[in-house]
Amino acid sequence: MTSFADFDFVEPIRLTLQNENYTTPTPIQAQAIPHLLLGRDLLGCAQTGTGKTAAFALPILNRLALSRRAPVARKPRVLILAPTRELAQQIDESFATYGRGLKFRQVVVVGGVSQLPQTRILNRGVDILVATPGRLLDLMGQGAIRLDGLDTFVLDEADRMLDMGFLPAIEKIVAALPVKRQSLFFSATMPPALAPLVNQLLRDPIRIEVAPQSTTAERVEQHVMFVAREDKRALLQNILSDVTVSRAIVFSRTKHGADKIARFLDAAGISTDSIHGDKSQAARQRALYGFRDGRTRVLVATDIAARGIDIDDISHVINYDLPMEPENYVHRIGRTGRAGAEGIALTFCDADERSALRGIEKMIKKQIPVRTDHPYHMQGGASQSAPSAGRRPARPNNGRPGAPGKGNAARRFGGKPAQTATGGRPQRRPQKAGAAPRSGGSQER
Ligand code: AMP
Repeated sequence: MTSFADFDFVEPIRLTLQNENYTTPTPIQAQAIPHLLLGRDLLGCAQTGTGKTAAFALPILNRLALSRRAPVARKPRVLILAPTRELAQQIDESFATYGRGLKFRQVVVVGGVSQLPQTRILNRGVDILVATPGRLLDLMGQGAIRLDGLDTFVLDEADRMLDMGFLPAIEKIVAALPVKRQSLFFSATMPPALAPLVNQLLRDPIRIEVAPQSTTAERVEQHVMFVAREDKRALLQNILSDVTVSRAIVFSRTKHGADKIARFLDAAGISTDSIHGDKSQAARQRALYGFRDGRTRVLVATDIAARGIDIDDISHVINYDLPMEPENYVHRIGRTGRAGAEGIALTFCDADERSALRGIEKMIKKQIPVRTDHPYHMQGGASQSAPSAGRRPARPNNGRPGAPGKGNAARRFGGKPAQTATGGRPQRRPQKAGAAPRSGGSQER
């Protein structure tokens, strides 16, 4: 299928796709939609950014439209289970967008907010329920939700669910599903611990695998920037002074760090907000909307909070800190370059983060090119001084192995010492580091 017109969608969906300018299905959509329209089960190995939400939302909406009936109180017809509140919210929005012409009733059931508005809507009857496992189980326990009227069940980001300890909750939810149903299972990776759930849930599923994790985001241009820890802020500011960095997510390893970076950027006049687990659901939502609507240009996020962020046109992902887990690198950079768009991912790496970088490169099976065309490039462990930055001079090497100082580059960075774009001489003027270099600013080690 090379066009959405080839699918047998009801007219309101066709019109919405036209309005949304969706003409060509993504690979997962092309492969999944024909089977899902027929009611088949599906095992999908795909991550966000592949167009997976539309791959399941469009056929689900179409099937609902063809068998329309009045919603029944507390008994949804479709349940989509997601690991995080943000992802649940976004899936709900996708259903609202794709189903605009169909006017189904839907509700999001997530924790961190009052349950009263959720139960009110459920009591009036909904067609589509998007939920996170904890709150769903709470409401099932109170009799506010019953799953025996389900036609379709979708489990999204199953591997994340596993990481977050939701497997026992999911097993309880699956036990409450009706025998006759359509089930869809999506996961970016398929760890063996998920196999029993797959077998229990799916019947003769079609199997689809798109963009395996290790090769994801190949369209994202990736660079690493060696920088001393104390220069990271200045480098970040330098990058963000480039107007081509139109919408950036900055990743911090800690919540506290995220707040500090956001405060620093805000004070520097760069509109910034942060999103992490210590913020209330309302504050997280505000931060996401502000970022999506373009009111804030930079969103500083931690790994957990960023899961499932689906915002188009993120020009840059900046890894201020390297992630603890190499897999998170792939999740992070997947925030840009969505649905075939191009994106740039810049990773700051200080001396202590070298082994984490090696772990990532091993996982993605490639070396990330080094950008040296910035004023804070750390050559041999000592960063080059940026004029007018008032920074302390490069520290001497006190003879310690791997300590800052010339000549350690090969040992510290592996292989050849990193070079500046101008042939190894220190940069004279700070350069804007956000845009991709036209030539010579990036090199493979
Ligand atoms: P997802 O993988 O579901 O998170 O989708 C990633 C992004 O791609 C979302 O912002 C969608 O709006 C967009 N998208 C999905 N399918 C298409 C398509 N066929 N054409 C253009 N954009 C799409």
